[in-house]
Amino acid sequence: MTIKRLAIYCGALNGQGKDYLVQAEKVGEWLAAHQIELVYGGGRHGLMGAVARGTLANGGIVHSVLTQELYDRGVALAGVTDRQIMPNMDRRKEMMMQMADGMIALPGGLGTLEEISQAASWVTVGDNAKPVAIYNYHGFYDELKKQLVAMNQAGFLEDLYLNNIYFGNSMDDILEFMKGYQVPHHRTYDK
Ligand code: AMP
Repeated sequence: MTIKRLAIYCGALNGQGKDYLVQAEKVGEWLAAHQIELVYGGGRHGLMGAVARGTLANGGIVHSVLTQELYDRGVALAGVTDRQIMPNMDRRKEMMMQMADGMIALPGGLGTLEEISQAASWVTVGDNAKPVAIYNYHGFYDELKKQLVAMNQAGFLEDLYLNNIYFGNSMDDILEFMKGYQVPHHRTYDK
């Protein structure tokens, strides 16, 4: 699979300490260095702003996709390469998935969880043919991994789709996973 654009989902808040922000900015730098374009939620706050600034500061391309409501509230980062204003959050999530070649979650909150969950769950129904990965920065998503394993063990999530969500410790590892990605068949149900 060729990866030219990545959707990054991450916190609209800073998180505690400076670490999360610094790491998010490094992800932005990494994208620019690998000539991979960023597709993101368009905000200027938190980790979102940090990723986008990291990309832009290093000559990278940033596609901002946000809702009219968020734009009117003044959350948009200026200086992005282009901006799409969508009527609502659902259309916005769809547009981000459409524009990107793969989806990655960095640390974040409910919005991040919603976005990455949608991307992963749409694989099971055959509506997402693109790879989904979680940047497990300092074990931030270890508990999520445990919950997914619990779903698997309880018979609600097949091995195929569990293994399809890649938990990586570096952007290099995530890129390798995405390049070799094989789209799984959509789920079939017992009669
Ligand atoms: P959260 O993880 O709850 O901080 O939400 C961040 C995710 O939800 C981002 O990836 C965005 O796509 C979306 N989102 C939530 N709040 C904002 C905001 N103020 N500006 C732009 N996007 C936001």
